[in-house]
Amino acid sequence: MRTEARIDLGAIRDNVAALADRAAAGARVMAVVKADGYGHGLVPSARAAVEGGAAWLGVAFLEEALAVRDAGIDVPLLAWLTTPGEDRSAAVAAGVDLGVYDLAQLEESAAAARATGRTARVQLKVDTGLARGGAAVADWPDLCAAAAKAEASGEVSVTGVWSHFAFADGGADHPVNGEQAKVFAQALEVVERAGLRPEVRHLANSAATLTAPATHYDLVRPGLAVYGLSPVPQLGTPEQYGLRPAMTLASTVALTKRVPAGTGVSYLHRYTTERETTLALVPLGYADGVPRSATNLGPVQLGGRRRSVAGTVCMDQFLLDVGDDEVAAGDEVLLFGPGTSGEPTAQDWADALGTINYEIVTRVGARVPRTYA
Ligand SMILES: *Cc1c(COP(=O)(O)O)cnc(C)c1O
Repeated sequence: MRTEARIDLGAIRDNVAALADRAAAGARVMAVVKADGYGHGLVPSARAAVEGGAAWLGVAFLEEALAVRDAGIDVPLLAWLTTPGEDRSAAVAAGVDLGVYDLAQLEESAAAARATGRTARVQLKVDTGLARGGAAVADWPDLCAAAAKAEASGEVSVTGVWSHFAFADGGADHPVNGEQAKVFAQALEVVERAGLRPEVRHLANSAATLTAPATHYDLVRPGLAVYGLSPVPQLGTPEQYGLRPAMTLASTVALTKRVPAGTGVSYLHRYTTERETTLALVPLGYADGVPRSATNLGPVQLGGRRRSVAGTVCMDQFLLDVGDDEVAAGDEVLLFGPGTSGEPTAQDWADALGTINYEIVTRVGARVPRTYA
C-alpha cells in the first residue's frame, strides 16, 4: 500500500440508521451519493446506505443515477441536475426520478416518456431562497399546472416536490431557513390546488435532518452526515450526533533524509529548517486532493505525533519535518480519519485550511484507491 482511502462501510450503514432514527415520524431517508459518494465510492456507498435503511438515493447527474442502476440497486432514485438535450430516455427506462425545474425540462421528460413508452417519474423543485435550481415562486403555479396536464395525459407522474436550503451550516435557527420553510409550505398549497398528489415532499439536507425536525416532511435528504461528518461543526461533533466518519486517508513515507539547519524545503522554499532535522517525503499531492493551500498547514499523524505539512504541497507529494524522531521510509502517515487513534479529522483539515469538511473528502482524487471494510 502506498496510499489508500479506507472506507468503513459499517460506518455508512450505522450513520444512515442513526439518521433514520432521528428523522421525524413518517419521514424516511434519501441518502445522497452524488460526487462519487462524497469521495467514498458511489456504488459501495449506495449499497451500504440501502443496507443501513435508506429508502431512497439521491444524485446530481443522470450518469450517476445510471451507474447506481447498472450496479443492480433498484431503490427509488432521484437525479436533479440536467442540461438540455441530455438523454433522459435512459433514465426513464431505468426508473430514475428526474428533477424538473421548468417547463422545458418537463417537456423533455414527457418526450422521454413518449420515446420509451414508459411514464416519466418527475419531481418538481421550487426555489425557496437558494436561487440555484428550481422554479422561481412566480413560475411555480404554471409549472404545477403544466405538470398536472402532463400527468393527466399519462406521460409523467409527479412523484415528488422538493426544495433545498441555503444555509447548510446554519442550524435550525437561521432566519433564512425559516423563511424558506414557509415558502415551501406555500408552494405545497399550490401543488395541492393543481391537483397533484406527490408521494414525497422533501426539503431537509444533513443540517436540517439533525437540527430541524419540522422540515422533514416525507423524506430527509442528507449527504454529508451519511459519511459521518458534522454539517454543523459549530453546534456538534459527529459523535454528538451519533455519527462516525467513514473515510481514513492513509499514505506511506517514501523517503527520509537528514538535512542541515537552514535548508529550504519544497517548491519556492516556503519552509526553512530551523536546525538539523529529518525530512519525510509523503507521496500524496494536490492531484490526489491535498489542497495546495495546505502548504505549511495541513495536519497529519506520523510516528504517533501530529505534525504539519512542511513547505509547498506539490502535485504528487509533500514533506514533513520530523525533527529527530525515529521515522523511516515505509511508516504509515494518516492525513485524516475518525480521530479515534489521535489522527486529524477531515474537520481539522477544513479548519486549518479555511474550508468545509465536504470539500476535504470529496476532492480526494481518482488516483487514490478506495479500500472497503
Ligand atoms: C448535495 C445536496 C444534498 C445533500 O446536502 P448535505 O448538506 O450534504 O446533506 C441534498 N440536496 C441537494 C439538492 C443537494 O445538492
